[in-house]
Amino acid sequence: MANDGTPYAEQIEAMRKRLSEIRGKITAACAAAGRSADEVTLMAVTKTVDPVLINAAVDAGVTVLGENRVQEFLSKREQYRPDADVQFIGHLQTNKVKQIIDKVSLIHSVDSPHLADAIQKAAAAAGIVMPVLIEVNIGGEDSKSGVEPDAAEALLRYVQQLPNLRADGLMTIPPPLPDEEEQNRVFSQMRQLYDTLREQTPLRILSMGMSGDYEAAIRNGATLVRIGSALFGARIYPQQTA
Ligand SMILES: *Cc1c(COP(=O)(O)O)cnc(C)c1O
Repeated sequence: MANDGTPYAEQIEAMRKRLSEIRGKITAACAAAGRSADEVTLMAVTKTVDPVLINAAVDAGVTVLGENRVQEFLSKREQYRPDADVQFIGHLQTNKVKQIIDKVSLIHSVDSPHLADAIQKAAAAAGIVMPVLIEVNIGGEDSKSGVEPDAAEALLRYVQQLPNLRADGLMTIPPPLPDEEEQNRVFSQMRQLYDTLREQTPLRILSMGMSGDYEAAIRNGATLVRIGSALFGARIYPQQTA
């Protein structure tokens, strides 16, 4: 039984239905923007989701999983299909980098030289080069994480001189955007920044768009959308224990 009490079979069927709706919307948004649907990666965001459902999504063809809590990820990962490509999308504390460095294929949330240094150290110790994205605070005051757009280039340059990091692109988590006009405004700003930086650096990933705004993100150039609740249903957080 899943964590909301309904049988797995029912949950899985509902998830597959939502997945096919999402795929349809991604295809339509790509078409509207004159893009090919294979330019956009659908990431399934797995926080609070039962591993049985996560694996069912992988069975249904979702190849990329997004984790944003180190502890939860470590407690669940043994149960994941071994071929799932796991990426880290949450705020990352420097003292936790070591625990995930060999378990994820991309870190979306580099927002300071200090964190970049910690990843460099852990990646060097593990003998790997870690691809990363620079997290940009594009939406303004409400959003707590990410560098200011003006500071993105300096952080990108900083990352580029670290031998065990590879800067692959940009990511943003804007505050909830009330309407399509606001979504377009924020995402097109992000796209402009991405295009400007790409004139000098071969970036390939623009990670933006979540359940409520992924179509607008795609129309504005997102190459990866991070979708949680629209795929798995509303999140059920475990009861807090004293
Ligand atoms: C939870 C989360 C998402 C997905 O949010 P939904 O609105 O449920 O799609 C995407 N990105 C990050 C960084 C998240 O923490």
